[in-house]
Amino acid sequence: MNGRGRDARSTDIDSGGGVPSWLAAHLRFCSRCGTRLEFGEVAGEDRERSSCPSCGHIAYVNPRLVVTVLPVTDEGRLVLIRRGIEPGLGAWAQPGGFLEVDETVDEAAVRETREETGLEVEPGAFVGFYTRLEAAVVVLTFEARVIGGTAAPTPEALEVREFAADEIPWAGLAFKTTYFALVDWLATRHPGIRPPEPAMGR
Ligand SMILES: [Zn+2]
Repeated sequence: MNGRGRDARSTDIDSGGGVPSWLAAHLRFCSRCGTRLEFGEVAGEDRERSSCPSCGHIAYVNPRLVVTVLPVTDEGRLVLIRRGIEPGLGAWAQPGGFLEVDETVDEAAVRETREETGLEVEPGAFVGFYTRLEAAVVVLTFEARVIGGTAAPTPEALEVREFAADEIPWAGLAFKTTYFALVDWLATRHPGIRPPEPAMGR
């Protein structure tokens, strides 16, 4: 382990780099009064931040949470989707998405799985959490039991397919976070299966 914590496996950039440039580009004006924000030292803050010279509003930037699910059938088969949208268009991943501000993590897990696969799930064991500093997200992954619904393609999934644990499409995974979630899931559920080294870019 590299000293940055378990969740650092899935990030490629160093800690301490501040707000990613793509995100900073969206932070130009005060959300309260519309004045152009200024970046620099702010009284009472322990790091430089964007703040409003007119009203004093501080534009805090924190990562968003992505809730993802490893749906497992009663036969022990894992459900993955082939993504129908970017990022990762055409590649395999677990269902999931951004946590909404007015729902619990379990609610998000159920909702995202239903939206992307047509399946109803019951969230179960926590699998892991995975940081992506470059994307300003933390991905949470749960195992979930498939309890109903009908798997079918959706606007967000070109395919919804079941895989045996030894059939995981490692070479075609969309994200590093998917890779490490599957590694952690196998370690507890199928410790005899050795995953290949990571080969995906995101
Ligand atoms: Zn302002």
